[in-house]
Amino acid sequence: MIRVSGLTAFYDTANGGRITALSDVSLDVPRGGTCAVIGPSGCGKSTLLRILAGVERRFEGEVSFAGAPIDPKRHTIGLIPQNYGLLPWKTVRENIRLSWRVKHSDVPAPPKESEMLARLGLEEPLLSRFPRELSGGQQQRASLARAFLLQPDVLLMDEPFSALDAITREEMQEVFFDLWRTQKVTTVLVTHYVEEALYLGQTIVALSSAPGRVAFMTDNPLFARRESSEEIVAQKTRLRSFLRGKGEGAAI
Ligand code: ADP
Repeated sequence: MIRVSGLTAFYDTANGGRITALSDVSLDVPRGGTCAVIGPSGCGKSTLLRILAGVERRFEGEVSFAGAPIDPKRHTIGLIPQNYGLLPWKTVRENIRLSWRVKHSDVPAPPKESEMLARLGLEEPLLSRFPRELSGGQQQRASLARAFLLQPDVLLMDEPFSALDAITREEMQEVFFDLWRTQKVTTVLVTHYVEEALYLGQTIVALSSAPGRVAFMTDNPLFARRESSEEIVAQKTRLRSFLRGKGEGAAI
């Protein structure tokens, strides 16, 4: 499982000062679970994701996976950044193999690549094109394929589906669930969209405004539920009012 305990993160500023981005954040994500971190802009969501990815090392506290400090050399970490993170000068196929090649330089293509591509509807001539020649949904599929082909220990997603139109977003969320159910990868996503958090997070962690502290953490009974019941509408309203209050005061 992922364990974050007493995490405090700082940035040094150009004028010699210090910004505290996260303060005493603690959360656990069980192995194979999903956790959605929600909070207002600037509350430290991206900082948390970079620390979990092992690329930001200026922090105090414990950040571990299965008992060992999170480290990209030891763990396989899949990252789905905002706007998909595809390199514009590489073809779609090269992009899909990129993370695999970084991790396994001796094996040219990930195992079960063709099965995965077929499952996601990624085929020629699309694979030989460049990312700009793809729709948003197709780019998202390529980004999901790249992350899941790694068979990561930890999957990190930054506002994963928020740039897509509503219908494509729902379609991609189903594609995500299909892959996640097969691999049961431990997933953390950050978002400022209430719908995204409620649909994708088994647990929801709400951060207060800067510096980010855990305002509340809750199991989410609405996880993976698409229907719009009174319960769901009420839960969305509560989360929205929390975010409107800039992450202060309100709780679920
Ligand atoms: P969020 O993703 O929730 O919008 P961030 O993690 O990007 O929040 O930022 C949290 C705080 O840290 C903000 O006050 C932001 O200005 C500051 N910050 C983020 N990155 C840097 C950096 N590289 N240098 C200095 N301050 C930063």
